Amino acid sequence: MLEIRDLEAAYGPIVALHGVNLTIAEGEAITVIGANGAGKSTLLKTICGILKPRSGEIRFEGKPTIGLSSARMVQSGVALVPEGRHVFPQLTVRENLDLGAYYRRDHAAVRADLEAALDTFPILRERLSQPGGSLSGGQQQMLAIARAMMSRPRLLMLDEPSLGLAPAIVQQLGRIIQELNRGGATILLVEQNARMALRLAHRAYVLATGRVTRTGTGQELLDDPAVKASYLGGH
Ligand code: ATP
Repeated sequence: MLEIRDLEAAYGPIVALHGVNLTIAEGEAITVIGANGAGKSTLLKTICGILKPRSGEIRFEGKPTIGLSSARMVQSGVALVPEGRHVFPQLTVRENLDLGAYYRRDHAAVRADLEAALDTFPILRERLSQPGGSLSGGQQQMLAIARAMMSRPRLLMLDEPSLGLAPAIVQQLGRIIQELNRGGATILLVEQNARMALRLAHRAYVLATGRVTRTGTGQELLDDPAVKASYLGGH
């Protein structure tokens, strides 16, 4: 579904990705773990058209995507849940969700997807008419994910969704991401919270200073001594 070859991205003189190769097959849940500044957000930004890479190739469902706008990428079926959620605090939960379907014209299907999102996130149904900014951090993360799902993405990318959330909420989030994956969404999850992310991953990549340094199944990386020492608190 997604093929990335020799991807290089930079901010002026700062090279953030040095020749990254990554593939995702339809239906997979893929995790990229890495420390602060490893290039995880940059990778997602280049995939969804926010940042133009310096070189390399990105193909989504067989078609080259470099140079396409982020709006085109959403319309092609790629959605990003950005780091920091970016819920619109003044808008109601309902309005935030409607924005996720901004590019869609299949209104009956949008209504059905809204119902499905509210079934997945019952707390949002209770809060539909409240401002997004009145929700807790965990609820805002749920809203950001539900909003992304409203574009009916085939590839859902999530940038550090667990950031700042309590462990119980992180676990709940992990279950929801898994549920979305089982429901048919292909997932690309980047996380510093490696344990949750590796548990739900079919395959995973370790990114360190802009390079892929390890790949394997989620379980292989969970068992890898170097990964344990660097990303799992040594346990
Ligand atoms: P984080 O968890 O902090 O978001 P990350 O793994 O997502 O880390 P990136 O945000 O992709 O890492 O950053 C990769 C590198 O690019 C870092 O060296 C960072 O300082 C640099 N960088 C990121 N954004 C910019 C920017 N807008 N301008 C300049 N340098 C940037």
